[in-house]
Parts: sequence; C-alpha cells; structure tokens
Amino acid sequence: MSPIQPFNFESLLRPSIRELKPYRSARDDFKSGILLDANENPYSPGVEQASGLNRYPDPHCDALRARLSELKGISPEQIFAGNGSDEAIDLLIRMFCEPGRDRIIITPPTYGMYRVSADINGVACIECPLNPDFTLNPERILDAAPGAKLIFLCSPNNPTSNRISTDAIEQILSKSGCLVVVDEAYIDFSEEKSLLPLIDRYPNLVVLQTLSKAWGLAGIRLGMAFGAVGLISYMMRVKPPYNVNALTQQTALDALSSEGKFREHLTLILRERERVSEALKKMRIVKHVHPSDANFLLVNVENALDLYHGLARKGVIVRYRGDQLHCNNCLRITIGTPAENDALLLAMREVSEIKASNSKPTIS
Ligand code: PMP
Repeated sequence: MSPIQPFNFESLLRPSIRELKPYRSARDDFKSGILLDANENPYSPGVEQASGLNRYPDPHCDALRARLSELKGISPEQIFAGNGSDEAIDLLIRMFCEPGRDRIIITPPTYGMYRVSADINGVACIECPLNPDFTLNPERILDAAPGAKLIFLCSPNNPTSNRISTDAIEQILSKSGCLVVVDEAYIDFSEEKSLLPLIDRYPNLVVLQTLSKAWGLAGIRLGMAFGAVGLISYMMRVKPPYNVNALTQQTALDALSSEGKFREHLTLILRERERVSEALKKMRIVKHVHPSDANFLLVNVENALDLYHGLARKGVIVRYRGDQLHCNNCLRITIGTPAENDALLLAMREVSEIKASNSKPTIS
C-alpha cells in the first residue's frame, strides 16, 4: 500500500511552530575549548569533577542517536530522543494542534497519556473505540480523520496487551491524511515486527519506542520517536534544549551496548509470561487471560475490584482496569521476576480461598 494523497506535514503544523526561531544552545557553534559561554560552574559538591556533570549535556544526543541508528538501521536524522516517550507524545500534540481548535483521534481502551497530554494542551479527543475483541476499527477512524490532525495508535496496546494488525494501520496511513503516531512501547515483547521500516514509505508515520519496558530502564526516562527527517528536525527545534540529561545519555549508551543481556532478559520475561498466564488460567476466580504481546497480562476475574484490594492487603500491587471500556472486571498484571510472580500467584490463591470460605453457606 502507498499513500494515496501526497502528505505535507508542514501544512499540518501550527503556524507558530512553522515560523519558530529555535533557541540556540551554548554548544551549537563550539563544543570544545575553554568553555566560558554557558554560565556553568567548575565546582560541583559531592561529584567527581571528571564526570563532566558540571556541563550541560549534548543537546542533540549525537552519540546516542548514532548508536540507535546502528541498532535500528535508520539514519540519525530520523531519530528524536526525549525525556521518555511521554515527552514525544506531548511535543507532537503541541506542534500540530492549535489549542481550542484542532483534535486528535484516540482508540480507547488505550494508554492514558494521549488524552492527558491533549487535555493539558486544550486539544479535544475524538474517540474511535476498539472493537470488543480489542481489534482496530479502521473505517470508524477514517470517517473521523477529516476532523483531526493526529491519530494515536498503540501496538501492542496498553492495557489490552494485543498487537494491532499492520494491514489496518496501513489502511489508516494511506487514507487518513493525518499524522499517524504508532506507539510501540511494548514491541520487543511481541512476535509482530516493528513498523519502523515503514517510515521511509509513509511520510505521515511516527513510531514511538522507549527504553522503559524491554530495556528495563524506566528510571532514566529515555523515549524515542522515529520518522521522516523533516518532521524529526521540527521535533528537535521545539524540544527544550537539554531535554535528555547527561546521566541518561550515558546510561542508555551503556545499556545499548549490552544486546546479549537484553535478549537474555527478554527470553526470561517471555517465559514467565507464559508460566504466569497458564497458572492464572487454572484458577477458579480467573475467567479469561487475554493473549499478550507485552510484558503484562490483562486478566478478567470475578469481582476485580475486591481482588485488587485483597492483593494489595497482601502487599501485591496490580492495576485495576475494570473502569476502562470493554475491560469490565479486568486487572492488568505486570510480569516481574520469578519470585515476584510466585508471590502474585500465591496471593491470588490465598485471596480466592478467603473469598470461597466467606461465601460458603453456614450450617446451623
Ligand atoms: N506508551 C505506552 C503504551 C506506555 O504504556 C507507556 C508507559 N506505561 C509509555 C508510552 C510511556 O513510556 P515512557 O516511560 O518512555 O515515557
């Protein structure tokens, strides 16, 4: 499939962004020498001078983007690095949507930050819900697309844990005329391939990924957006100058050179996902474990809110998702270490036994 109408992302940008004169940071012109240009301080208490942390970080994340470029097989100019993928979500909405006027499309039940970022920016959301079996409804999205600038799709989707059909996403890419943001935070846990190779075919595609999930580095806050060179260059102009701090850039580089360990951990999580899923399916209180392409399970149980509180009383914290569309009585359970997963399974059994004994009729 190829784009039906030529896509000119610049015409979708807010005029203030198109005309923006970006902030020039201290190191845009000179990176070395006696650096007295940025009001830094040579003395930092409690930190080794040699660590360089008294200096502002590289605003362009050049080393990190070069490494990502090798790993992902795309050019560094097609890569944006952000303070978590949450920053990229917010930035895209701010770049394209005029507050009080423009709209985005979201597909509930899905990741909550698309709506939160839109709300913060005064941008309305058009809801095109997933079908009850959590598949996408491309026709509904295409009907709504003329009234929107951006479409957020999440694959594998949070909280439903399933991947979205590539054919359905390509239909939307070809026909919507919108910028289509495909959030692949959980893609490494899936058998489905990333849509990354499609960024050369579809100029209206932005793919989001993160080091928070499969790379196990939620604490450093490193998210990525991949897309056409022109679009990424606008993201670089609009972002705060030093959005990715020096410690994050270095830790990310270290992690990205440990691919062997990454694969090992991934295999362990996938094995545990299978084990936990099978154990849950055998429990009487569990009605359905949804097939998962992510590092969590969406589990339909008897009385999810009671179970959620019962587990919390035993020190096991899961996410109640019964308030989400099509997720009645569902808990979202993250796959942890084997010991954490055992603790979850034990707590589930204990809570369900208490429930069963409480509901037995008393004989007088
Ligand atoms: N996208 C999805 C689908 C998520 O579930 C999450 C976090 N739960 C994020 C993005 C946020 O990722 P980051 O930590 O990179 O901001």
